[in-house]
This record gives sequence, C-alpha cells and structure tokens, in this order.
Amino acid sequence: MSNGALSDRDNGAVSDRDSWEVIVVGSGIGGAATAYWLAREGHRVLLLERFDLGHEKGSSHGASRIFRFSYAEPHWVADAMESLVLWRALEEETGATLITTTGGFDIGDHVHKHKAALDECGAVSELIEAPVAGERWPLIRFPSDEPILFQPDAGIAHADVSVKAYVEAAVARGASFRPHTPVEGIEVMGDHVTVRAAGEDHQAACVVVAAGSWGRDLLATVGIELPVTVTRETVAYFSTGGGVLVPSVVDWTRELPFFSLWDPANDGLKAGWFHAGVQVDDPDVPAAPEPHIIEGLSGWVADRFPGADAHPIGAETCIFTATSDERFIIERHGRVVVGSACSGHGFKFGPVSGRRIAARALEVLS
Ligand SMILES: Cc1cc2nc3c(=O)[nH]c(=O)nc-3n(C[C@H](O)[C@H](O)[C@H](O)COP(=O)(O)OP(=O)(O)OC[C@H]3O[C@@H](n4cnc5c(N)ncnc54)[C@H](O)[C@@H]3O)c2cc1C
Repeated sequence: MSNGALSDRDNGAVSDRDSWEVIVVGSGIGGAATAYWLAREGHRVLLLERFDLGHEKGSSHGASRIFRFSYAEPHWVADAMESLVLWRALEEETGATLITTTGGFDIGDHVHKHKAALDECGAVSELIEAPVAGERWPLIRFPSDEPILFQPDAGIAHADVSVKAYVEAAVARGASFRPHTPVEGIEVMGDHVTVRAAGEDHQAACVVVAAGSWGRDLLATVGIELPVTVTRETVAYFSTGGGVLVPSVVDWTRELPFFSLWDPANDGLKAGWFHAGVQVDDPDVPAAPEPHIIEGLSGWVADRFPGADAHPIGAETCIFTATSDERFIIERHGRVVVGSACSGHGFKFGPVSGRRIAARALEVLS
C-alpha cells in the first residue's frame, strides 16, 4: 500500500512549523477514526504512525473482521448499530466498500441473551432450527443440540480498506499524516504537550495515544497505567471453492469460542480461536503462527464446514490488547487522551470509538 499520496509533505496542507491542536499517535482503526473526527470538526490534527499504513505488526491489518450486532449486552448492540450507520456514511464519502453483509450466526447457550439484547435494541434476529439452517446454508454443519441465532445484518468489515479510508478522509479534510514516524516521548507542560517523534519535537494542546499494544509502555512514561494484557493470536485461512458469501459464525459451545468469517482476499474462510494465543511482553518481538492453534482451527473447520477444505491455505498472527471485561479504555488524563478500542472485538466499533476518543480531546480544546 503506497502512502505517498497521504503524507502532509505531499498534500501541502500544513508544515512542521505549524502548531497542532491534537496529535494522534497510531494509525490503526482507533487512531485513524479519531483523526478523521477531529479533522471533520475543523481541527488541526497530526497523525503519527511508526510503521507504514496497513502494516501487519499491530491489530488492524488484514482484509476482514467480523461485523455483528449480536452481543449479550444492549449497549454493545446499540453501538454496533450506530457504527453501521457511520460506516455506510464513510462509504458514501470515500466511495470504498467497507462493510459486506453476509448475515451471521451465534451458536450455543449465549444466544438467548443475545436475542434479548437485539430485541431490546430493535435489531432483527431469528432463532433457527439446525435442519432449517442447514438447508439454507449447506456449507455449514449446525449442531442439532445447541440453540442457533441468525442475525441478518452481520458480515465483515474490510479492515485494511477501512483504515485507509479513514486516514485518506482525514487527510482530505486537512489532517496531516506521517507514516514511519515513531513517537519516542511525550512531555506534558502547563498549556501544551510536546511529542518527540523521529527526532523532532511537535507541540499541541492535546495528545491522543491510540497505540494499540504499544500504548502500555508509551503511557507509562507519562504516569498513566493501561490495564491490558497483550497476546499474539493466530488466524488461519481456508478454501470454500469461492463464490459463497459465507455468513460469520461465533461458536460459543467450546470453552474458548471459535469464530469464522468470509475472507474477501481469497473468497474463502478466515477462522480464529478467541484468546487461544500466548501472552507477549514485547509486541516488537516477531513470532510465527502457532501450529497447535492452526491444528485446532482445522479441526473446527472440518467439524463445522463440511463444504470447505479443512487444510489451511495460510495463517497469520494478530496482536490482541485486552481488558478484563472486554470494555474499551477511552479516557482523558489532563492533556493526554487514552484511546484503546481493543479486546478482540473493537474493529467494528471504529467509527463510534473514534468519535468518543475525539470528544475527549475536544474537552481540552473547549
Ligand atoms: C486475531 C484478531 C481477530 C479480531 N477479530 C475481530 C473481529 O472479528 N471483529 C472486530 O470488530 N474486531 C476484531 N479484532 C479486534 C480489532 O482488530 C482491534 O480491536 C483493533 O484493530 C484495534 O485497533 P487499534 O487502533 O487500537 O490498535 P492497532 O491496530 O494495533 O493500532 C495501533 C497503531 O499504533 C502504532 N504505534 C504504536 N506505537 C507507536 C508510536 N510510539 N509511535 C507511532 N505509532 C505507534 C502502531 O504501529 C499501530 O499502527 C480482532 C483482533 C485480532 C488480533
């Protein structure tokens, strides 16, 4: 992915000597959406990213993430419903396809709570018997002894396209984006912050740290604790023969839930295993996909997807930054705003989380 067209040095909007109102650290979905909302409000925003846009070392890379309304708590359902409206608005603004609707299943006892929360929020869903589901979606094998919930609005977020769309839309609205610019330090002064990045100092009224798993160490330098654990998760890809928009599946029947979704890159299936990965102290230490997780995923795909080839065609890792209750950390400490929309389910909420993070920053400017 080329970033040339996105750099402020090319768009000429602002120079290093301009003062910033907000500096956003990190161009994953959290930082990208935050920069967009701030630029949309007409603020002078500098978005700093230590790697390339779309790099594979953090949490937001790859072609897809599950988009779903289906949660056990109504507040998540409501946020997902609002996010869909905002994703569609960004599609209108950028012309990119960001969400593909495939429908989605939840399998297991949890579904009754999900159904109640969906009903409370006015979202359509349907408890469905295994034989009926099997007839409508022959690619999937449904268990006959577990409740099954279908939610037609579920699907996938086109992850890498979406992050790029937010950054491009932010830049189009006047934000400045600098890839390959690692933030090395933050200093909070009386009426401003100084952010040191790639050997240069930048001043702003406020800094937003949306640095994913790296946020923990960066925030510690200004005395802020980010209560998260960091793990490296493995996902694998499988062939369905193509031509089928496979509905997403979250299988809650196992101790650690399995999930799958349509993979637009291979027109097949992406599968993962929530929280099966290992804890990592340093996200910069690279590691290969874990063979035992790939084996577990192959077994689950063989079980649930008789229409797919259970031999993986690829695998990759992704960093999980998780809180103990899967809530996001969006808070302000004076001139420092923490934006951590994480816990393995944060992508879909990018538009709503970005707007909330931006709102914390605007408190400093008001
Ligand atoms: C295996 C897996 C499956 C998932 N599945 C789903 C799903 O199905 N549905 C869903 O909604 N969500 C899902 N998620 C969660 C979602 O992907 C994350 O919540 C989201 O991507 C987090 O984005 P982020 O911006 O907080 O972090 P990141 O994407 O990690 O972005 C942080 C950015 O900050 C940059 N950075 C760090 N330090 C610095 C620095 N010092 N200077 C400059 N830049 C810096 C990093 O390079 C990085 O680009 C999944 C996550 C994983 C790992």
